[in-house]
Amino acid sequence: MALVTMRQLLDEAANGGYGVGAFNVNNLEQVQAIMEAARETGSPVIIQASRGARKYSGDRFLYHLMEAATEVYPEISVALHQDHGNSPETCKSAIDLGFTSVMMDGSLMDDGKTPADFEYNVNVTREVVEMAHASGVTVEGELGTLGGIEDEVGSGEVNLTDPDQAVEFVERTEVDALAVAIGTSHGAYKFTKEPDREVLAMDIIEEINERLPTTHLVMHGSSSVPKELVDIINEYGGDIQPTWGVPVREIQEGIKHGVRKINVDTDLRLAATGAIRKAFAEDPSEFDPRYYLKPARAAMQEVVKARMEAFGQAGHAKDYDPISLPDMAVRYKEQGHQLTVT
Ligand SMILES: [Zn+2]
Repeated sequence: MALVTMRQLLDEAANGGYGVGAFNVNNLEQVQAIMEAARETGSPVIIQASRGARKYSGDRFLYHLMEAATEVYPEISVALHQDHGNSPETCKSAIDLGFTSVMMDGSLMDDGKTPADFEYNVNVTREVVEMAHASGVTVEGELGTLGGIEDEVGSGEVNLTDPDQAVEFVERTEVDALAVAIGTSHGAYKFTKEPDREVLAMDIIEEINERLPTTHLVMHGSSSVPKELVDIINEYGGDIQPTWGVPVREIQEGIKHGVRKINVDTDLRLAATGAIRKAFAEDPSEFDPRYYLKPARAAMQEVVKARMEAFGQAGHAKDYDPISLPDMAVRYKEQGHQLTVT
């Protein structure tokens, strides 16, 4: 089994100067698509599940799908991550389930909708850091809020991360990774035109990275929403309005400035939907789900492969041996929350 903590995976990425895609899963085909792409490119990978995903597939099914991934692909280092935990209880249940990393999103109250104040965020995140690190589990926090609402998460309001607050937040919470809000949104409708430096505040990432050089930064809502994927959906009867995502070259710019984890979900959804629509259109007499799920899985694999190559994680799967959770717990205890693994 090659289960790895996100802390180690991101420390290694920082050493190697690359980023790692974090891909969301709900079902078998998504897990297979991501792992096949990881094998094809020799990439370490983060598989993440939102609360919505856990509800959709059920904790036991989801966990065993992820566990199967580590068994079938033993050469790949996989971190299992709770995306957008809304409370210490949610993070605790993910840790009990066997996840090696949790996000405590204290930028929102536990309804996942109402923006929270800074003190609430610091306190709730610190609580999760104490709890998670005692089990060797990694913690991602979030400061600032993203636009858009996905899987019932989000206030729909954009509040860019303030670099002064980011420094105070990391000092007080001692999180391993920090999600920053730079103007991106969850979902497919991020920008109404190609984003430039006015709408995508990459300078915030540069400033935070200068002041917190050892904190791993996370970009949420970072699907690129490629036009060719949207076009396939629309060509076969879909109705996706013109929209722009985060260009891959901007993500690569972020990776030069401390971005280590890049969350990608929408691009896989678009790829799957386009492939399924195309399959339905090409042979309306087919009714075996494998007829349309196979091309959906292949289309997702292509997207994941392209992102793994673009983020630079390709070829790094075998760079290191994963440290176990109990060993990580000992390291946190001995070296403190702000340890370095490598
Ligand atoms: Zn997110």
